[in-house]
Amino acid sequence: MQYGPGPLSFVPFVSVDQMMHLILDIGIERFLLDLAGYIEQDFRRWQQFDKTPRIAAHCADGVIELMPTSDGNSYGFKYVNGHPKNARSGRQTVTAFGVLADLNSGYPVLLSEMTILTAMRTAAMSALAARYLAPAGSRAMGMIGNGAQCEFQALAFKAILGIDTVRLYDIDPSVTRKAARNLERAGLKVVQCSSGEQAIEAVQVVTTCTADKQHATVLTDNMVGDGVHINAIGGDCPGKTEVHPDILHRSEIFVEYAPQTRIEGEIQQLDADHQVTELWEVIAGAAPGRSNARDITLFDSVGFAIEDFSALRYVNDQIRIHPFSSRLDLLADPDDPRDLFGMLNRAAAHYRASA
Ligand code: NAD
Repeated sequence: MQYGPGPLSFVPFVSVDQMMHLILDIGIERFLLDLAGYIEQDFRRWQQFDKTPRIAAHCADGVIELMPTSDGNSYGFKYVNGHPKNARSGRQTVTAFGVLADLNSGYPVLLSEMTILTAMRTAAMSALAARYLAPAGSRAMGMIGNGAQCEFQALAFKAILGIDTVRLYDIDPSVTRKAARNLERAGLKVVQCSSGEQAIEAVQVVTTCTADKQHATVLTDNMVGDGVHINAIGGDCPGKTEVHPDILHRSEIFVEYAPQTRIEGEIQQLDADHQVTELWEVIAGAAPGRSNARDITLFDSVGFAIEDFSALRYVNDQIRIHPFSSRLDLLADPDDPRDLFGMLNRAAAHYRASA
């Protein structure tokens, strides 16, 4: 007689602690490389996925978003927020969790923390895009905004693109010091800078990763010369951008999913029919990436559901090899699927007996 969890009720769960163990066990750079491989595979089969701009609930200080997708066999979604002022009260700007499910039975197969996983997948995605778009032989990256995402970005660009130098700038110098400290033993040359201009001196890649909910101009037109790749990740919701429109007009722009990026990305500042290329086309060989060494390429990253699906798919494969998940009693599993109430009755009898 079933009154407690049955064999079908448990769903693998990866907590924050387990995610950290998993990443450290695999190795951060190995994890980023492998994750980029999963994203690349899924971008190559882009047409198989259901796609929709994410579903957002905005308030003055931030946003909560749901990001669903399915490839016809599996379904995934992520819950994520973006609240730049959270840092003032000791909270993260971005937190997340996600679910992967079997589309055919509707049963979840994984519930996972995704705050750390989002930083990993954003970094893997950025560096993967740069592998297709950045100038050949890129070795130095300037990073404006050195908060939670920064070190993940630096390590992904080292592992996936071969960057050996990062130049850091944040309006809060203590945050730059934090990032430099965290990257001390990463095998990168780290230069702490006192302005955005200094941070992007003689680099081939510029990453903007700031978090003000406004039309900021972290990069102005006169700061950016020819022949660079801009990885713009901080402008990711309506009313929140980082790059001056003049730079956008000089750039070849690449996006994840154009209908979502036109709402959320840097290109919300441009006409709705401004020419952009979806990155999957470049990855699948259907469109060119960088065509000229002097081009400015700009990856207008906002984060798309398929990347989170790839990340959940990767974690789901890895927890079969690495013992870092627990079993969550999430689904009711009565002996007779139609006798849900009977399970409750038996539980009542059991609880009374053991009281
Ligand atoms: P965070 O709050 O931890 O860090 C942001 C940093 O930017 C802070 O240290 C702040 O001092 C600095 N900053 C703000 N304005 C600046 C300026 N003008 N010049 C230099 N530094 C400035 O936030 P985070 O978690 O690192 O996220 C950064 C941004 O990336 C957020 O806007 C977030 O929404 C976005 N994000 C995008 C994706 C994506 O897929 N594109 C994924 C995750 C986060």
